[in-house]
Amino acid sequence: MFPIVFLFLFLRPMKEKISEIKDLLQNPKDIVITVHRGPDADALGSALALSEVLKQLNHNVTVISPNDYASFLYWMKGNDQVVIYSEDKEKAQKITNNADLIFLLDFNSLSRISDYSDVVENSSAIRIIIDHHQEVDTKAANIIISDPKSCSTAQLLFEVIENLEYKHLINKDVAESLYAGIMTDTGSFKYSSTTSKTHHIIAELINLGADNSKIHDLIYDNYSENRTKLLGYCLNDKLQIFPELNSAIISLTEEELKKFNFKKGDTEGVVNYALAIKGIIFAVFIAEKEGVVKLSLRSKGDFKVNKIAKQYFSGGGHMNASGGISELSVNKTIEKVISIFKENKKNLTK
Ligand code: 5GP
Ligand code: MN
Repeated sequence: MFPIVFLFLFLRPMKEKISEIKDLLQNPKDIVITVHRGPDADALGSALALSEVLKQLNHNVTVISPNDYASFLYWMKGNDQVVIYSEDKEKAQKITNNADLIFLLDFNSLSRISDYSDVVENSSAIRIIIDHHQEVDTKAANIIISDPKSCSTAQLLFEVIENLEYKHLINKDVAESLYAGIMTDTGSFKYSSTTSKTHHIIAELINLGADNSKIHDLIYDNYSENRTKLLGYCLNDKLQIFPELNSAIISLTEEELKKFNFKKGDTEGVVNYALAIKGIIFAVFIAEKEGVVKLSLRSKGDFKVNKIAKQYFSGGGHMNASGGISELSVNKTIEKVISIFKENKKNLTK
């Protein structure tokens, strides 16, 4: 019985969901906005943009991130007020318990917020998901706005804000946070998820005050010396290419990361260098962080890395960009990945 009810709620028309959200926002509420663990620019930018819009409507809004994130996102408006659950559990718990509404942005299942999920589930707040990942867990929220075709949660959120008739509340700060989300999730407008609609929305964000060149600079041209040297080490010493399987691996152990004084975000994008090599259609980045072996999977064309992430690494994501974790050591994980390459030889070499 229950799954059918949830499926029905999920399948309701967008218009109905928007008017329900609008009703919920009619009078001032205590609102929490949360994002997946290790939020990227799309997750954090969407959360801070929505927060700035809702604050202008006199809601009491708190953005809660399950853990800390890369410092190249700290420029976003509202960053200084984000509560980090892993660093201040008591405060995050109190605010979440007290919330009327919880927005869950850029993730499709409560497992993506780790142990903060217990706190969210124990709160009586109404939950609203806005997300662009496939296979959203229809039981995770009361209202679900999910569009896996959307290049980013930030683009989808822009459309939600427009449909709620709050577009006049998109000021320069909101526009810049949304711009950052769309720019990074489209690989600077190059992935196939980038459409003419994306460019129209980007044009609107620039008209609303987003300084596009400045944002690019803040996110991409802001490497520390250590990050640049770590990238050099990855490419020169740690890149393994399997030309007969059109695949590549880059891996790092915790000791190697320590040598380069690793900071959150320092390995973001490294996997793309492996994928940029001529002929490579499947690239895997493996790194041991805080005792956990994490994988980033990227592909070109119709090779579905989300299937691999789900089947072998308790993960998921998008068709061409996914992630997961491994229970094995870095070396054993490399062996496992090589055997996955071999198993998929037919699809990798067709
Ligand atoms: P990244 O490789 O940049 O960490 O993640 C790429 C994409 O994979 C993310 O946008 C997210 O959708 C997905 N992803 C990353 N890690 C996980 C994970 O542990 N579980 C799931 N379900 N998806 C993940
Ligand atoms: Mn995203």
